[in-house]
Amino acid sequence: MKIAKEFTWEMGHRLPFHDGKCKNLHGHSYKCMIELTGDLDKNGMVLDYFEFKKIIEPIIEELDHSFMVCNEDKEMIEVLNKLSSRKVIVNFETTAENICIYLLEEIIKSSLPSNITGIKVRVLETDNTYAEESHLFH
Ligand SMILES: [Zn+2]
Repeated sequence: MKIAKEFTWEMGHRLPFHDGKCKNLHGHSYKCMIELTGDLDKNGMVLDYFEFKKIIEPIIEELDHSFMVCNEDKEMIEVLNKLSSRKVIVNFETTAENICIYLLEEIIKSSLPSNITGIKVRVLETDNTYAEESHLFH
């Protein structure tokens, strides 16, 4: 059985390597759809949606109204420090693909119950684009 829940957050970023507009400071109203696959528990649930939210929300909350910056983007980190602005420093370029992997890894590290056998994360930077990655527990 599969269940899914949508989460949203606002976040700034830039892609310094990009030839087009994405090298500029900008932000997105990010959306992600998280799917969990697993056997039903004794109550007929894969996971209570309330518990689902409790597990995912701290991961999303860290990103909300932050600027996600690659640790190699020293100039940007300096600016964010100067402004005392909220940031999340990561070791990757902040593409939708990498943010998707980041979220997936954070969820894998979280305390999901043992009946969960798979996770799929879909990250939407805009309404008409997405990146998706999944993980199966053995
Ligand atoms: Zn962007």
